[in-house]
Amino acid sequence: MEELSEEMASAEAPAITYRRHLERGKLGYQRCAECSAAVFYPRVLCPLCGSGALEWRESAGRGTVYATTALHSRNRDPRNVVLVDLDEGFRMMSRVEGLPAGEVEIGARVRFEVRRGEEDEPVAVFVREEG
Ligand SMILES: [Zn+2]
Repeated sequence: MEELSEEMASAEAPAITYRRHLERGKLGYQRCAECSAAVFYPRVLCPLCGSGALEWRESAGRGTVYATTALHSRNRDPRNVVLVDLDEGFRMMSRVEGLPAGEVEIGARVRFEVRRGEEDEPVAVFVREEG
């Protein structure tokens, strides 16, 4: 029982650390000390080389829209879903606030912000970078 809970704790730790960053308004990611890969979503082992030597970093939160699509659901206006390439070299799925689906441009510069989700959880979103 104890072994199991320890295993679960170590498996959960990266997600908890990530959330702790969001609670402080920061976008956390990991960098592999072995192969220098920028790693996102946070995990225990580097997906490229398998190393467990992943170090936490704080992103400057600036990036470029790599891809965008519209998410249609019942009784709601379509929402945008984007893949953002952060300047530190990792890619994440998110949304761009304040823009209707279909008006997010690929290549647009965006800036990270934290918003609250439906259960008051911190959510990483992006806004259009001015200028
Ligand atoms: Zn690695």
